[in-house]
Amino acid sequence: MEEYIKAAAEQFEKLLREQLVRQEAMEHGAAARDFAGAEHIVIGVVGGDGIGPIIVREARRVLEKLLSEELASGRVELREIEGLTLENRLACGKAVPEDVLAAIKGCDVLLKGPTTTPKGGTLESANVTLRRELDLYANVRPVTVPEEGIDWIFFRENTEGEYALGSRGIEVPGKLTMDFKVTTDAGTRRIARAAFEYARANGKKNLAIVTKANIMKKTDGMFTRIAHEVAADYPEIEAEDWYIDIMTANLVNSAVRSKFQVFLLPNLYGDILTDEAAQIQGGVGTAGSANLGARYAMFEAIHGSAPRKIEAGEGAYANPASILKAAAMLLRHIAMPEKAEQLEAALRLCMEEERRVVVTGHRDGATAQAFTDYLLEKL
Ligand code: NAD
Repeated sequence: MEEYIKAAAEQFEKLLREQLVRQEAMEHGAAARDFAGAEHIVIGVVGGDGIGPIIVREARRVLEKLLSEELASGRVELREIEGLTLENRLACGKAVPEDVLAAIKGCDVLLKGPTTTPKGGTLESANVTLRRELDLYANVRPVTVPEEGIDWIFFRENTEGEYALGSRGIEVPGKLTMDFKVTTDAGTRRIARAAFEYARANGKKNLAIVTKANIMKKTDGMFTRIAHEVAADYPEIEAEDWYIDIMTANLVNSAVRSKFQVFLLPNLYGDILTDEAAQIQGGVGTAGSANLGARYAMFEAIHGSAPRKIEAGEGAYANPASILKAAAMLLRHIAMPEKAEQLEAALRLCMEEERRVVVTGHRDGATAQAFTDYLLEKL
């Protein structure tokens, strides 16, 4: 037993030192890139696993149409990135093989399909690795249900919490296991700043800070405290504290849910609450997300690779709306708001107004390809 305790103590010291170095580096972080005057923008296109390549192919067709002039002139390049597949990652024993990571770092922004993470074992999630390697600290997920007055945007911290150290817990075999969670000052400050800046720029008046600070006193306690320090610079925005348990109930309470506007959350709560929110919007297949950092940004669906859909032979029926919404966020990020609006308007028309070609996710609905053909006609 003593040797387990000694090994765990050594591992903990190593983790602590690494995290202090990471916090230090964040304190000197760069400002976000502005693409408005960029002469050359490389959009990396990553298929991923399962239904990933199916829906990404459709999003690529839409981008090719919307960006036809920019692609022809060379201002924008769509670059296919190979090798971020489960088979290759397992063969290399790496969540993101080095050559793939180098290719990704050669791009400015990424459009990425979902990637499978095996349960157990030691292979880390490709997403967790990419978020860390590219320092994509803000996970931004909009959810709207216009007929109910729901217009939410979630700012989920994307590089810390349980996810930063989730593959590096300790185990005393047959006795116990322990994982770690980390919250840093600089990491919290930058995501809080991003959420409040968004609220101010978009005229939002309510911002909910969602934690479990009554139980996770150190980590969530720090998150809440720093969020309020940042809030002091935005007096026009009402910053409210909420616990994650009651907030999950609030989202299914139609008497209160439409009053919420902007949500600021640590990583794990953000992961869970945004899936719930997406379900209220019409399912995970309808929600897109942005992972933003100062240098890089990655845009993807909020759902996973849907392996059971592939096993059932229903991959072709996956909803591409999630990745198409992410593609619209990508266009806005690279300073092309009119093209983003064009895509969003076509999505609204096809999914809410006309509903002529409806994707259900199953054989009784349209395929991703048929839906995209319809959307392309309406663009
Ligand atoms: P999932 O999101 O893949 O599937 C959940 C449910 O939603 C399933 O019923 C699925 O069929 C359905 N669904 C998902 N996308 C859909 C779409 N576009 N259209 C219609 N239906 C859709 O969740 P899971 O089964 O928990 O995860 C599968 C794998 O994906 C796991 O290995 C997980 O680690 C990974 N994952 C990856 C990401 C990512 O890369 N960003 C995110 C979440 C999960």
